[in-house]
Amino acid sequence: MPFLTRGNGFGASLGKRLPGKALKALSPPPPPETELLVGANNRNRKERGKMGMKRNKELPLPADLKAEYPLSRAVQEMKARRDREIEGVFTGRLDKFVVIVGPCSADREDAVLEYVYRLAKVHEKVREKLVLIPRVYTNKPRTTGEGYKGMLHQPSPDKAPDLLGGIIAIRRMHIRVMEETGLTAADEMLYPENRSYLDDVLSYEAVGARSVENQQHRLTASGMDIPVGMKNPTSGDLSVMLNSIQAAQLSHTFLYRGCDVTTEGNPLAHAILRGGVDKYGTCVPNYHYEDLARLWELYEKRGLANPAAIVDANHSNSNKKYNEQLRIVSEVLHSRGHNPALKKLIKGVMVESYLEEGSQPVGGGVYGQSITDPCLGWADTQRLLYTIAERV
Ligand code: PEP
Ligand code: MN
Repeated sequence: MPFLTRGNGFGASLGKRLPGKALKALSPPPPPETELLVGANNRNRKERGKMGMKRNKELPLPADLKAEYPLSRAVQEMKARRDREIEGVFTGRLDKFVVIVGPCSADREDAVLEYVYRLAKVHEKVREKLVLIPRVYTNKPRTTGEGYKGMLHQPSPDKAPDLLGGIIAIRRMHIRVMEETGLTAADEMLYPENRSYLDDVLSYEAVGARSVENQQHRLTASGMDIPVGMKNPTSGDLSVMLNSIQAAQLSHTFLYRGCDVTTEGNPLAHAILRGGVDKYGTCVPNYHYEDLARLWELYEKRGLANPAAIVDANHSNSNKKYNEQLRIVSEVLHSRGHNPALKKLIKGVMVESYLEEGSQPVGGGVYGQSITDPCLGWADTQRLLYTIAERV
């Protein structure tokens, strides 16, 4: 990651190894200042200047986790080739179309691996035209904070949170994807500081609709050397999204994992259109021709590097009617074919898809069916991918 660490003595947070075996949870007796405060009344906390937060466990540093679960030389080289290809699409050097496709949440390793195996077979057939990037989303934003927060929090969706198990499970799953399928994945950067556990494995990251106005997300994105898609916020406001892209393309100095760091700026930061919701809670899509043309105009006014957009066909664009994704992608391809500026702007689409169509509650028991947003099933997805390859 193109972060330059400044200051002294805090490098351990970004990279240095701890002595001793890494992945045993470090559980020192809590020092007095971290004593259990849950249940203390607010007045009490205020007087003592402390938070109502209990420290459960100290977790391994990213460097320790990486040493325990390393990437082979061959996988590192494969990732470097993939990253160059994906970068080529976003800079316009390569005339290929990106499809970021996979489940809303990567809830179980076996089903996700089976999905990506299938995707890799399709990729072999369409690779002259498309770059397929599996969605392996391990961090889930929740509208009210309740519900399944992804494999990072819950390696088993129906069991209690286990963050140590989670960071191991997500790294292992991403590495299996790379080693066994030859593809590298996309994930959401929901917690900027946690991405250090995966920053050597991901080829694409999205900043979600609920995070895109957050300064720490924007500044962290400015220190990443892969494409980062900034989603429009749930309100649909395009200026928030463009401000976020602008911020991520600039260099910044800030506090990151206990270090004073300076970033280089990320010229691959770009837009993701995912539709919005108006003040009455009605979905307002933004994938139509006029929306895309408007985004092109706004990009031209800003003078940002590498104007680029991905259209997310689900979420508030489909109103989560997952089958509409087929029609929405088709319309986007039509708009792109109609206007050379849009052909340049729209670098790809994002599709939510899994082995089985639809969704189920957590614990529903259907292998390969989403436990978060409803997804296209595999047969439709495969047909869609071949159709996109014919039409781009
Ligand atoms: C998602 O990609 O599953 C997601 C939660 O997206 P958004 O931030 O657009 O709601
Ligand atoms: Mn989703």
